[in-house]
Amino acid sequence: MEADMGVIGGSGFYSMVEKPSLFSDANLYGKPSESIAIGDLSGKRVAFLARHSKEHTIPPHKVNYRANIEAMNSLGVQRIIATNAVGSLREDYAPGELVLFDQFVNMTHGRHDTFFDEDYVVHVSSAEPYCSQMRSIAASTADRMGIRYHKSGTVVVVNGPRFSTKAESRHYKAQGFDVINMTQYPEAILARERRICYLGIGVITDYDAGIEGREDVKNVSGKDVEEIFSRSISTVKELVSNIIKETPENRECSCASALDHAVMTKKQK
Ligand SMILES: [Zn+2]
Repeated sequence: MEADMGVIGGSGFYSMVEKPSLFSDANLYGKPSESIAIGDLSGKRVAFLARHSKEHTIPPHKVNYRANIEAMNSLGVQRIIATNAVGSLREDYAPGELVLFDQFVNMTHGRHDTFFDEDYVVHVSSAEPYCSQMRSIAASTADRMGIRYHKSGTVVVVNGPRFSTKAESRHYKAQGFDVINMTQYPEAILARERRICYLGIGVITDYDAGIEGREDVKNVSGKDVEEIFSRSISTVKELVSNIIKETPENRECSCASALDHAVMTKKQK
């Protein structure tokens, strides 16, 4: 089985293609979160995977990110569009709006975050972790659709599954981070290690631990996240399917050469 593009759906986003063929082969890193659904969408073969499984049973710190990305890679997927629920750390990034990530800061721990931990020493560049071409296609598509979104944003990725304390939230705001999430790392960087273009779309569901001086803004709860996400889901699906339609066959970005000059040594056998 093969696919042109992959979609990884976050909380509240559990299906995309109709009448799919299912792919559930395990790879060197294990089994993907669930069977990958492959079908036609916007004139392309699209592989869809629900990150937390359709029943939402896999928490962020237990997702097998390597197995998921390797499964996409084994299908020949060259581009991945991923959606994620995010909390806002700024008043002007409001719930219901979308954000196209351009940077991440990793605060997770204990996750398998590389494919290169045995026979090779590889230092992949993470300076620009998100595909420039996909971001620009996403922005022009969102403009055309009249969606409320932010062209860029730094996402701080925390381990979870708990939400932030007020002090943590204050700290992340003070650092200048825009939104907070639990799944962008290591997913984005593993895609890069496999030379796959990766676009991360955040769906803002809440204001994390509230806003200083605004008693009317509540702390986030899991229920709020699901509720706002499900309200935005039809827009997100339409955006993803339009981005797929607008994506040309040729890659005009540097993602395919992410490993050039990155391999330092290969173990002698
Ligand atoms: Zn790219």
